[in-house]
Amino acid sequence: MRTLGKTGLLINEVGFGGIPIQRITQEGVNIIIDELINTGVNFIDTARGYTVSETYLGVALKNRRNKFYLCTKSMSRNYHDMKKDIDISLSNLQTDYIDLYQFHNVKSTEEYNIIMAEDGAFKALVEAKEAGKVKNIGITSHNLDFLLTIIDDYQFDTIQFAYNILETKAEILFKKAKEHNVGVIVMKPLAGGMISDAKLAMKFVLNNPNVSVVIPGMDSVEQVQENTSVTVGDYSEDELTKIKEIQNEFNENFCRRCGYCLPCTAGIDIPSCFVIEGYYTRYSLQDWAVSRYNSLKFNASNCLECYECESRCPYNLPIVEKLKIVNNIFNKS
Ligand code: SF4
Ligand code: SF4
Repeated sequence: MRTLGKTGLLINEVGFGGIPIQRITQEGVNIIIDELINTGVNFIDTARGYTVSETYLGVALKNRRNKFYLCTKSMSRNYHDMKKDIDISLSNLQTDYIDLYQFHNVKSTEEYNIIMAEDGAFKALVEAKEAGKVKNIGITSHNLDFLLTIIDDYQFDTIQFAYNILETKAEILFKKAKEHNVGVIVMKPLAGGMISDAKLAMKFVLNNPNVSVVIPGMDSVEQVQENTSVTVGDYSEDELTKIKEIQNEFNENFCRRCGYCLPCTAGIDIPSCFVIEGYYTRYSLQDWAVSRYNSLKFNASNCLECYECESRCPYNLPIVEKLKIVNNIFNKS
């Protein structure tokens, strides 16, 4: 068990990520919730944007809501939209209160300033907190530089950020968060499905003492059992070799969503193209991925092959070639 920063919530260090349940049935979710209770998992994270995820959870948690701390998030940035989303989440989740409500995927200081403005979404969450509908407020992002600029005068209770064997840059952020008693929620422990050894992946994340909880996405009882059987502590020689192998295998080809390649000459949100492609090819969330891809203003097909982005990518990714693969996938779907 670990304490989630200043929220004071005492939670199992392995939580539940609610993205993948979009692809299973209500009955499947009910069985997973049974297993979460069996294994002592008491922290559930979902989002307004994960289609049926909130609704499935609401039904599955009926009469056992008090066994879990429930977290969700919204992409809304202004006061009225956030107010509406909070009420929709409460209704979907069939509950009177949400333990943690997060701003979903805040990309930049500009977006943050909109949220914090007089008519911004933060005000709606503060009001919801005063009304007892929301207990704590957090933020999720993929932009490390942005979070590092706000963490020192941070007004929220938690951050949520990607961290895994292939993405370790957030260690400095987590250390600062710990100093400020901000809870650290780790998403993408399997690097968006790139890492197949779940036990090793969880161990790597949880061996960082500044992490409060890791939330692997799960859609089966077997995954719950595997992810919760992790033991933290020193690595064996075998594990150290495996970590090195994973890093060597994917370092040249894995997008860390850091955004240093932006802005794209053609306006393409390059990291989002790669993230969505991962949902399509590795998460079996094809319909959702296609609808998210189609909602992008510019996509991989708009690439002008100017190569400006590649000179800015610190990992030397062959962005143009990778975008061609993304374009092929979504043009066929
Ligand atoms: S090569 Fe394509 S993706 Fe990269 S900056 Fe140019 S237009 Fe954008
Ligand atoms: S392509 Fe490179 S620079 Fe752009 S987000 Fe991915 S890892 Fe970062």
